[in-house]
Amino acid sequence: MTLPSTAREVHLASRPEGFPTPENFDLVEVPLPEIAEGRLLVRNLVMSVDPYMRGRMGLGKSYVAPYGIGEALTGGAVGEVVASEAPGFEVGDTVLHGLGWREYSAVDAAEATKVDPRTAPVGAYLGVLGMPGMTAYAGLLDVASFKEGDVVFVSGAAGAVGQVAGQVARLRGAARVIGSAGSDAKVKYLVDELGFDAAFNYKDGPVGELLHRAAPDGIDVYFDNVGGEHLEAAIDSATTFGRIALCGSIANYNTSTPTGPRNLGLAVGKRLTLRGFLVKDHEHLREQFVREVGGWIASDELRYQETVTEGIDRAPAAFIGMLRGENVGKALVTL
Ligand code: NDP
Repeated sequence: MTLPSTAREVHLASRPEGFPTPENFDLVEVPLPEIAEGRLLVRNLVMSVDPYMRGRMGLGKSYVAPYGIGEALTGGAVGEVVASEAPGFEVGDTVLHGLGWREYSAVDAAEATKVDPRTAPVGAYLGVLGMPGMTAYAGLLDVASFKEGDVVFVSGAAGAVGQVAGQVARLRGAARVIGSAGSDAKVKYLVDELGFDAAFNYKDGPVGELLHRAAPDGIDVYFDNVGGEHLEAAIDSATTFGRIALCGSIANYNTSTPTGPRNLGLAVGKRLTLRGFLVKDHEHLREQFVREVGGWIASDELRYQETVTEGIDRAPAAFIGMLRGENVGKALVTL
């Protein structure tokens, strides 16, 4: 295979204020990276756009270091090894790594994981069988201590994490699974395709009222992808000893005036557990996750969608679109 002499990558041009705009990104043509010993040259096939990247574009408090202005962005990607200076990796291997947002990446072999494109489509390693799927699994089982018979509420339910969280709850024997999402089409997808018992469009009215209508007897578990008004509604509807997994608060990612729950005081009398988590702390569940969720996908008991945008030049638009809710399931960019 003849390699090109240059390749394109996306740089952060400026830090977004509020919602990112295309002007915050630059598409830059750079020489193909050279690879030193221990590294792989990877031609990327697909890359991920994720909400946490918004945090890294600013300078606020985030759990990951900010991206540098004028530097290439990073993130999950899967690609084909086109040159290898590392033992154990051959040209033609498919690898998962963290240097997305570029057509070719020079990856430290220690940071690359081989994946099998015959077991699952490459995009699945960034979605349902990758970081978001694992987040859903760990958040529900480890963090919210889900148990059979729980009534479970998932926000951001039609997204990458949410679509898995709700279905794991259903398949593990939840009494009732309720989802919220930002469009009627997503609500229909949750109920008709994913087997949620009830779902609502949170733009239809106060979330507290919509949730109360969907779960009149309250919720035992809340998987929080959204924060703000959703979290307040969940605290209000939580049953005694209810458990809340704080996964993300996307309602507050693009604003300088974040909203928080005003009713935290209720958590005392209800003896609620609210627990934040990061997926990386739950690696002990990985094998079980791959086996169980992989099995459900194979038997068609767990379904998922991806929203795929083509071309690295459209990666910023895919990212902005994801933040605005244009994706159903995992937002991916093919390169
Ligand atoms: P999604 O695929 O769910 O995409 C983001 C979705 O957020 C959009 O599609 C949109 O759907 C929804 N959204 C945007 N703005 C709002 C708003 N104001 N109110 C309610 N919903 C909104 O992303 P992921 O599944 O990848 O991530 C979901 C959450 O999980 C995020 O908060 C993310 O930060 C978090 N996360 C946390 C991890 C951890 O380790 N703790 C790891 C991975 C993700 P809609 O149309 O429904 O509005």
